[in-house]
Amino acid sequence: MTVRRALVLLWCCSIPAIVWAQPPADMKPVTDRLAASVYTGPSMATLRELSDGFGGRVTGTPAYNHAAEWAAAKFRSYGIQNVRLEPFTIPAGWQRGTASGALLTPLPRPLSVGSLGWSPSTPAGGVQGAVVLISDVSGDALKQTEQLRGKIVFLDSTRIFAEGFAKALPKLDLAWGVFQKAGVLGVIMSDREKNNVLNAHDMLWGARMLPLPAAEVGMEDGKLIQRLLEQGPVTIQFAIENRTSGETQVNNVLAEMRGSERPEEWILIGAHLDSWDFGTGAQDNGTGTVSVLEVARALSSLGKAPRRSVRFALWGGEEEGLLGSYAYTLAHKDELKNCVAVLNSDNGAGHPKGWKVEGRKDLKAAMQPWSDGLLKDIGGGDLSMETTYDTDHGPFMLVGVPALDLYVDFSKYFEIHHKASDTFDKVDVVDFKAGTVIVAVTAYAVAQSDKPIAPHIDHAAVGEILKDAKLNELLEHVGVWKP
Ligand SMILES: [Zn+2]
Repeated sequence: MTVRRALVLLWCCSIPAIVWAQPPADMKPVTDRLAASVYTGPSMATLRELSDGFGGRVTGTPAYNHAAEWAAAKFRSYGIQNVRLEPFTIPAGWQRGTASGALLTPLPRPLSVGSLGWSPSTPAGGVQGAVVLISDVSGDALKQTEQLRGKIVFLDSTRIFAEGFAKALPKLDLAWGVFQKAGVLGVIMSDREKNNVLNAHDMLWGARMLPLPAAEVGMEDGKLIQRLLEQGPVTIQFAIENRTSGETQVNNVLAEMRGSERPEEWILIGAHLDSWDFGTGAQDNGTGTVSVLEVARALSSLGKAPRRSVRFALWGGEEEGLLGSYAYTLAHKDELKNCVAVLNSDNGAGHPKGWKVEGRKDLKAAMQPWSDGLLKDIGGGDLSMETTYDTDHGPFMLVGVPALDLYVDFSKYFEIHHKASDTFDKVDVVDFKAGTVIVAVTAYAVAQSDKPIAPHIDHAAVGEILKDAKLNELLEHVGVWKP
């Protein structure tokens, strides 16, 4: 154990002794006003405007850009003065067009097909060829590639991802280059849910174009193709038409309420505005987006800002690898030392539970009095130690900022996640508003408390958390973490 690491542990272990000077009960009159404002406020109408009005908001598309302008106007209409669009760049722009496909031999029948995100179009008329099943994408397995020319590769995702995403991703990144060189016509992979339901997703981290046209097929269709391949040759056809562009500017939406006593210190309330596009991104992440807007509206309606500044952020590029929030942590590197905490919402509008503290024992201990004193009574008293890099708290977690992610019942989330069913009608108004209240009350408490909630932790301490969560390999591969 290094001396530095020992000091960090000592510091972390001493945190429970630090309590915020203003007891939770003293804040209750104000947090009750915030809760009432959210419960009686316009969040369902706002969500309907966003999800039904703009539809799926894939990063960098006109729908995303229009939604960003709409969100900026919403902040301004709530009396937030400092509102701006802050750009970052993605390597390629992509907008879904049409996709179709069919099994040709030995059993002619239509396939349930969707384009993978950031797939190029097929040549006009599509691609047609014999299917080759690839279950191993390691370098050795792909040495004999002559048999791939003019074929359609079927990636056996169950086998390829059997060892986990972190192990498979580097091999897959290389495999795309091998397929392209070998003259593969296109790539398909099977989805994982019954009834041929498709989940929108991409394959390469960072909004990069795939080298070859690539489609997903429904699970039952995929299993049928695999069974037929056991008996003999199988040919399929698919056609994809997408709109693509080169480097594309994407805007995060930022707004700020200046603190009344310590404006140089700030907290950040964030959620991603972008979404996939099979549905209209109502819970992934319309509800998170609207909760940020609602917290801004409710705090503004108090008439006096909390002590610290509150920044509101709606990110782009989350679905392609947390790109907008990551870009923000780079662009604002020098002022992150004044960031007291980040509160993120992106787990759907299930029944709320509390907050995820992302593996930080010290943060859990520091939050406990607030969870017990202010949040328990509104259904948000639980604190989860689960650590993920699956949404926009992640880039802040990497630089040691106390980062909390709203913790909700997840059991129904995958019924809608990235699917055509992620629409306004699935949102439970009571759960949604209760979750937003937890964000609003926590935001006020953190921005108003005498002392910062918990200190920043150093690089070594973050590294330990990532290792414990088995996230380090993946994050090193995608280039956001260096040990
Ligand atoms: Zn999301």
